[in-house]
Amino acid sequence: METDPVCGMEVDENGKGTAVAVVSGKKSYFCSNECRNTFLEKQA
Ligand SMILES: [Zn+2]
Repeated sequence: METDPVCGMEVDENGKGTAVAVVSGKKSYFCSNECRNTFLEKQA
């Protein structure tokens, strides 16, 4: 399991609804695309 850095929820990295983002070579997992988008907006 991985932790969604946006909402803190535990996510299954192989789960169906799991979203992934790679920033500076670091992979992060999210419970949804919504959290992924929120995370990526904060990267700028
Ligand atoms: Zn989330």
